[in-house]
Amino acid sequence: MKLLEDRILKDGIVKEGNVLKVDSFLNHQMDIDLFNEMGKEWKRLFEKEEINKILTIEASGIGIAAVVAQYFKVPVVFAKKTRSINLDGQSYTAKVESFTKKKVTDVIVSKKYLNPGDNILIIDDFLANGCAVNGLIQIINESGATLKGVGIAIEKGFQDGGRLLREKGVRVESLAIIESMDASTGDVVFRH
Ligand code: 5GP
Repeated sequence: MKLLEDRILKDGIVKEGNVLKVDSFLNHQMDIDLFNEMGKEWKRLFEKEEINKILTIEASGIGIAAVVAQYFKVPVVFAKKTRSINLDGQSYTAKVESFTKKKVTDVIVSKKYLNPGDNILIIDDFLANGCAVNGLIQIINESGATLKGVGIAIEKGFQDGGRLLREKGVRVESLAIIESMDASTGDVVFRH
């Protein structure tokens, strides 16, 4: 998606350790006009799928998913990273290793909000090694719901998450795929 690629080139900052900072428009300050355009694009891409729920993960996925959901006219469920709703047997849990924080946390979804018969679209801000998305897929599978696809804003194509998901037959639609990036020069190259 050219709009997102141009914004990454303009405002993204490449950090050491393969981290792209997009705090000024995506995951701290949020550009809602951009999120709306992303929503329209995912709606176009997933038009033929009968999606009835969007699943994301706190915190950065929530804002994007909430705007995008308006185009699908479906509710958003976000996996929580706190234990507050984990009453025994009433929630699904998966372990997710955070790419940016390097620690393993449980992500939790109440059994009330995922059911067999649900057709799910996963939405998240970044795809790196795929831990976050794989945790969500594990939860979907446990619930008996069906995964229809994954919508990612920025995929770092030089990391393995996207390739491994596609090899498993998961439909991944990333709006910008970074082929390479360089912290010393700040250069970002996209895959088309
Ligand atoms: P994965 O689980 O695929 O390894 O990493 C995806 C998660 O880590 C995303 O939910 C995102 O929050 C975070 N993440 C991964 N890479 C980056 C990055 O380069 N920049 C930022 N801001 N977040 C990232």
